[in-house]
Amino acid sequence: MHDVVIIGGGPAGYTAALYSARAGLDTLVLEKMAAGGQMATTAAMENYPGFEEPIDGSDLALKMERQARRFGAVVMFDTVTELILDSNVKIVRTENNSHQCRSVILCMGASPKKLGLPKEDEFMGSGVSYCAVCDGALFKGRTVAVVGGGDTAAEDVLYLSRFCPKVYLIHRKDKLRASKILQRELFNNKNVEFLWNSVIEEIIGQYGVDGLRVRDLITDKTKALEVEGLFVAIGTTPNSSLVKGKIILDDKGYIITDSKMQTNIPGVYAAGDIRSKYLRQVITAAADGAIAAYSAEHYIT
Ligand SMILES: Cc1cc2nc3c(=O)[nH]c(=O)nc-3n(C[C@H](O)[C@H](O)[C@H](O)COP(=O)(O)OP(=O)(O)OC[C@H]3O[C@@H](n4cnc5c(N)ncnc54)[C@H](O)[C@@H]3O)c2cc1C
Repeated sequence: MHDVVIIGGGPAGYTAALYSARAGLDTLVLEKMAAGGQMATTAAMENYPGFEEPIDGSDLALKMERQARRFGAVVMFDTVTELILDSNVKIVRTENNSHQCRSVILCMGASPKKLGLPKEDEFMGSGVSYCAVCDGALFKGRTVAVVGGGDTAAEDVLYLSRFCPKVYLIHRKDKLRASKILQRELFNNKNVEFLWNSVIEEIIGQYGVDGLRVRDLITDKTKALEVEGLFVAIGTTPNSSLVKGKIILDDKGYIITDSKMQTNIPGVYAAGDIRSKYLRQVITAAADGAIAAYSAEHYIT
């Protein structure tokens, strides 16, 4: 019987493991892919405190994993397939095993939605980004485009317009879903140009983004747009299907917790991007993980 099983080996999961193992709890981390989660997909992270120079996300992930293991956390690479959470002893089933524990910390993160264009994956980190707060500063002085029509897209455009002389906002409809206050700011911003009723058909470039081919859905004509960055802001999907119907989620599928990271089930906590929260970043995921482990420790003892 483990004290704590942590599902997900991103920054939330590894920080929860560090705090849990260091508190003397028998701690198991289950990760279905490789260390680091979304963090491992970024080559130059500039906003995690303590690193003056940009740090590779995979390197930081390995450091976090080793730090958690140093205090006795066990990390297994296995996919969690089923959770039975409604009694004091929780059961975590994986593709290869079944584990019993007193407490579970859910750190399965979220995945950015993609456009599904050729070269989109290839140019991730070479012009294609899913996080303006993370990568915006790398595009200082350049022309970029944001695709999307909700609050995130509007916030990304406003954020990028501080560094970039020209920011195109490409939206498939003729009006935005974003809140009125954000829209007002956008319409008053001289650095922003709107491409309404438009979709991106192609990312142009050999080694990175040099431009986009955009189709106007009304005229059916295409045009090339010279940009060095494409920010995709069409939403994220929380990896919460495992707990759907078992744990209270918000209307977008993110897990609702209190400030102690407690879900509606005693002994079950959630941390990081999977949680309904304001800012999804490595630092906030790590902070959530620390709080969740501290709460689990109090629950168990
Ligand atoms: C391209 C990109 C660049 C980014 N750049 C930055 C940046 O520069 N700075 C910054 O602060 N933030 C950045 N972010 C955001 C940051 O990476 C996330 O906020 C952070 O990784 C969230 O951590 P997490 O641990 O909550 O979840 P995740 O990192 O999403 O990790 C969740 C983990 O859970 C695992 N998992 C899911 N389901 C299961 C299952 N059933 N069984 C076992 N394991 C499972 C996944 O494989 C994954 O490894 C970036 C995000 C992206 C996509």
